Amino acid sequence: MTATETSASVPRGRDVDVAPGRLFIGGEWVEAADGATREILDPATGATITTVAHAGPEDAARAAAAARTAFDDGGWASLHPRERGRILLRASEILCARAAEFAELESLDVGKPVMFTRTVDIPTVVETFEYYGNLAAGLEGAARPTTAPALAYTRREPIGVVAAITPFNFPFILSSTKIAPALAAGNTIVHKPAEETPLTALRLAEVLRDAGVPDGVYNVVTGDAVAGQALVTDPRVDKIAFTGSTGVGRLVAQAAAQNLKKVTVELGGKGANIIFADADLEAAINTAVSAFVFNTGQFCMSGSRLLVERPVYEDVVGALGQACAHIPVGDPFAEGTVVGPMAGPKHLAKVRSYLDRAQAEGVRVLGGGTVPAGSGGFFVAPAVLAGVEQSSPYVQEEIFGPVLTVQPFDTEEEAVRLANDTPFGLAAGLQTRDIGRAHRVAAALRAGIVWVNAWAVLDVAMPFGGYKQSGYGRENGPEGLEEYLQTKSVVVSLA
Ligand code: NAD
Repeated sequence: MTATETSASVPRGRDVDVAPGRLFIGGEWVEAADGATREILDPATGATITTVAHAGPEDAARAAAAARTAFDDGGWASLHPRERGRILLRASEILCARAAEFAELESLDVGKPVMFTRTVDIPTVVETFEYYGNLAAGLEGAARPTTAPALAYTRREPIGVVAAITPFNFPFILSSTKIAPALAAGNTIVHKPAEETPLTALRLAEVLRDAGVPDGVYNVVTGDAVAGQALVTDPRVDKIAFTGSTGVGRLVAQAAAQNLKKVTVELGGKGANIIFADADLEAAINTAVSAFVFNTGQFCMSGSRLLVERPVYEDVVGALGQACAHIPVGDPFAEGTVVGPMAGPKHLAKVRSYLDRAQAEGVRVLGGGTVPAGSGGFFVAPAVLAGVEQSSPYVQEEIFGPVLTVQPFDTEEEAVRLANDTPFGLAAGLQTRDIGRAHRVAAALRAGIVWVNAWAVLDVAMPFGGYKQSGYGRENGPEGLEEYLQTKSVVVSLA
């Protein structure tokens, strides 16, 4: 399989204002202490979109100090939860009114087809602020009966200063899944977005300020691992909310253990999607394709491993090869683009290295559609690796691109065993018409979310998070709010 290049020029539809970005600390826009900046690239062309301040340890410390002061002042934490909720609802309204602008900004920054940022990313963020705005209003403790002559009750309190460290692939959604519940609970925040894709985080600072979030409550430092490490070890930070790779998540958890910070780590995945022979095959194949090409495969919940019951295995593999060859890969702003570029050159190089290795090893590779020629963008065509071994790196490691492995199986038990046999446990799914099997297999799969006759159907009310080395903690749902709260018991003597 080789991807051919179309000679069609890449249409440019960008009309979004991107001023140079600065750090947002204590309610002010400031340069990095050492004046460092970083260029932000357009993944569809490789050209520079803008520059942003590049935070170092000193800037992380400044932001942690601002968030600490804002928390210790007590204004935000002691605000009535209903009032915090109202501010979040206002943020949701502002985001809704500015949805078109945010959709274009996210597409430009990450290379996501604007069709998806308009229908998935931005609406999800709007709903997340709305959802936690409403949940905030219901925050309350409980009176508890005691055997002593005392009035005993619980208080739900914020944890303190939260460092939110987010990845490059769903920058805005995964920021909102931390920021909205953390604010609802009364915490203050230092947000460090991924170095490649910080633009919506910076603009969110404007939205939160306009919605009424006080200075110092939400701070943004744009930087890389150095700024992230500084936040993880900063004594003023009480909790780390991290989403990223399993390797970095491990480092974060180790470093945070030094002063026993609370940590949630939402990490990598290698989702197994099982097609049983009794499934509606046309629907199952469509689901399998979108499950691995969505977001150019840069999706922690990607259905990147397909297990197919042997009687339909060859039919499914053939159909996948056909489908891949016709997926529109191209400019994120062009009408009809389903697969945009990878978010950066580093990510493209990683995917290419797996594909080159597979070809060199004689793996059966299918797919190979067209990618835009001469655009300078980081494009790769979706590819299917058929008949790979369970122990191979293609099955065991997160490639994080539009690459699907396909393996046959003979029994339900074998399918479950193969599905569970990687270090990851984030998402899984099965396609079948047998209702008993659907529930049996859903229970046996070791993953934080399981889809039946579907993939990647998500809702802000449904928690997600990892089993095994996909991490711990949950985002979304009431569980996502719990991660930002701690409980205090108060006992008042009646004697
Ligand atoms: P990454 O681990 O390279 O980086 C994530 C964030 O951590 C970035 O902001 C980065 O600057 C920062 N960072 C890097 N090293 C650090 C350190 N030592 N200390 C503190 N911060 C540090 O991940 P990525 O490449 O941006 O994102 C892709 C990964 O994220 C994939 O593995 C994907 O599966 C995972 N992911 C998981 C979820 C989930 O919900 N489980 C969601 C999206 C992405």
